[in-house]
Amino acid sequence: MKCTRCSDQAVVALPSHHAAFCAPCYLVFARRLVERAIKEHAMLTPEDRVLVAISGGKDSLALAWMLKELGYDVSGLHIDVGIPESSPIARGYAERFCTTQAIPLHILDLQSQGLAMCEVKKRVKRPICSVCGQTKRYFFNTFTLNNGYSVVATGHNLDDETSRLMANVMRWDTAYLSDQGPVMPAEKGFAKKIKPLFRMTEFETANLCFIAGIDYGHAPCPYSAKASFPVYKRLLADLEDIQPGRKIHFYDAFLQRGRQGFASAETTDQAVDPCVHCGYPTSTGECGVCRLRTMMKE
Ligand code: AMP
Ligand code: ZN
Repeated sequence: MKCTRCSDQAVVALPSHHAAFCAPCYLVFARRLVERAIKEHAMLTPEDRVLVAISGGKDSLALAWMLKELGYDVSGLHIDVGIPESSPIARGYAERFCTTQAIPLHILDLQSQGLAMCEVKKRVKRPICSVCGQTKRYFFNTFTLNNGYSVVATGHNLDDETSRLMANVMRWDTAYLSDQGPVMPAEKGFAKKIKPLFRMTEFETANLCFIAGIDYGHAPCPYSAKASFPVYKRLLADLEDIQPGRKIHFYDAFLQRGRQGFASAETTDQAVDPCVHCGYPTSTGECGVCRLRTMMKE
């Protein structure tokens, strides 16, 4: 198998792209996918101060590495969610990576906020994954806005995005379908959010880590066994095997032609006001995280 770019011995085959690459050319290929995503969706300018949400997994490490390679001003935020079985491992990977790459890393420890997820889990009735996700999004937003960053980047990849899209389609969830995408603009008190890896599959980000020598961890969350997206990931992986390129076509076509069809269903008239305690935008007076804080103090 020869490299599509330079005809050297290839180390990775990518049927979806009808291509194979040697290690140096793979890095060029990955770089172009990320550059294309950034350019097509006006994600970043050279003036941006980018906060990368670094979980310690392959995607967010690959993202921070690539954005730094591309010359952006990058810092990291790791949220230690306070799950004894997995959080210290994840945090260790984030810390070692940022030290090695000389990327400034902020750590936000949920335990110090009285919101360690191992404790929250004992108290809430809702699924813990949705509470944890909501809490992380709250801190991605507030940390970005309160610390002079212009945009927050997450490591969501093509598999994350297409499985979420598939789940939204299966429910015909028009509200989510109207605004799912790789960029959320800064508005109504929320920070701008971007997903520059949305054109890369999980396999491709793992491969990027491998070739770039990034030591990434896999610290599976002990609470997330029942998450629904893995089912859709498997279905889409089977489809991709039969029809290489299906996933990116599904997503690109949704962005180009599908999403706008749901725009009218979006509920823009719902009043969003600052949370009475912390100022975070909410439609319920007190935001979800402040409600959680109150509950944990009771
Ligand atoms: P997940 O929802 O776990 O697939 O994560 C999606 C993205 O959210 C990751 O690629 C990271 O950019 C970000 N993220 C998830 N967990 C954390 C965390 N504990 N700290 C910082 N960023 C995170
Ligand atoms: Zn609040």
